[in-house]
Amino acid sequence: SAEAKGGSGGECVRVAVNIRPLITTELNDGCTDCTSIVPGESQVQIGSHAFTFDCVYGNTGSPPSSLFRDCVAPLCDALFCGYNATVLAYGQTGSGKTYTMGTNYMGDGRSGGVIPEVMETIFSRVEEMKGTTEFLIRVSFIEIFKEEVFDLLDPAPLSFLKGEGTTLPKLAIPSRTPIQIRETLNGGITLAGVTEPEVRSKEEMGTYLSKGSLARATGSTNMNSQSSRSHAIFTISMEQKKRSHCLTAVVINDDFGDDILSAKLHLVDLAGSERAKRTGADGMRLKEGIHINRGLLALGNVISALGDDKKRKEGGHIPYRDSKLTRLLQAR
Ligand code: ADP
Ligand code: MG
Repeated sequence: SAEAKGGSGGECVRVAVNIRPLITTELNDGCTDCTSIVPGESQVQIGSHAFTFDCVYGNTGSPPSSLFRDCVAPLCDALFCGYNATVLAYGQTGSGKTYTMGTNYMGDGRSGGVIPEVMETIFSRVEEMKGTTEFLIRVSFIEIFKEEVFDLLDPAPLSFLKGEGTTLPKLAIPSRTPIQIRETLNGGITLAGVTEPEVRSKEEMGTYLSKGSLARATGSTNMNSQSSRSHAIFTISMEQKKRSHCLTAVVINDDFGDDILSAKLHLVDLAGSERAKRTGADGMRLKEGIHINRGLLALGNVISALGDDKKRKEGGHIPYRDSKLTRLLQAR
């Protein structure tokens, strides 16, 4: 669904790697870094193997926000031009997806990441343009868990199951009701009844980001590390309309809606990639209780189909419908 021109290369799908530093527990265990970056080559070296990506960031001391500047800022520009785009954080549990995306936002000024930088960038641009353009910006924040979609901005209260012979709560389970995916008349996709508030400032958007982050974190302590098994999708939709005194061309069509430019930016913190493995004949996967995540499997297939230039140009089949994740990210 990454339709936006992805910066310099103009490819549909670009891949950046962000290598996180070793964390305290790893250092205490005597772990050492096994990766190195080949300078100027966008390559990661692991032992005798070198892997090439569009961009590589991490343990060379490059400033963290260059990932945003190189890879995400061009997508923010594209949003203002009416292009849809998606940023996906992929990696195994503990690799830094949530940290990089900023989906653990607490709004305390210390939490960084891609989404807070997106908010900053979008609203400073809106501020510059607001003399000539009217904006309608909305956000939604949802989670896909076991192929069900939940609204993180409208979390249900926890319901407590009483433990036997005690008054203490045994389990606190969020009694959440999944929301349904609907197809609209023009072939688009909507989520029935999803909370999609209008936001007028980055502070207001930050409030929703932290509210949803908290709802996700609450779910995870109660449900066997749900966050490593679920996909969290923060979506910014933008509608723009030139203010009438700025119109340079006569609008011929009477339909009021025709001069509205709209686009969406999806920012996704995916389930841990340890749930993407298709094979694994040693049975380890089952022992660990790790099950294949349908969304990750479908996503891999969609991305390789999109990356296949020939297939894409010939209008070949892109298997969006194989999972909720890929259906939702399919922008039209
Ligand atoms: P994931 O969401 O992929 O499971 P997290 O984002 O929770 O992983 O990161 C795991 C741990 O590593 C956290 O303690 C986080 O604070 C830390 N971490 C991740 N990325 C970085 C980074 N770039 N710099 C410093 N610490 C990081
Ligand atoms: Mg995480």
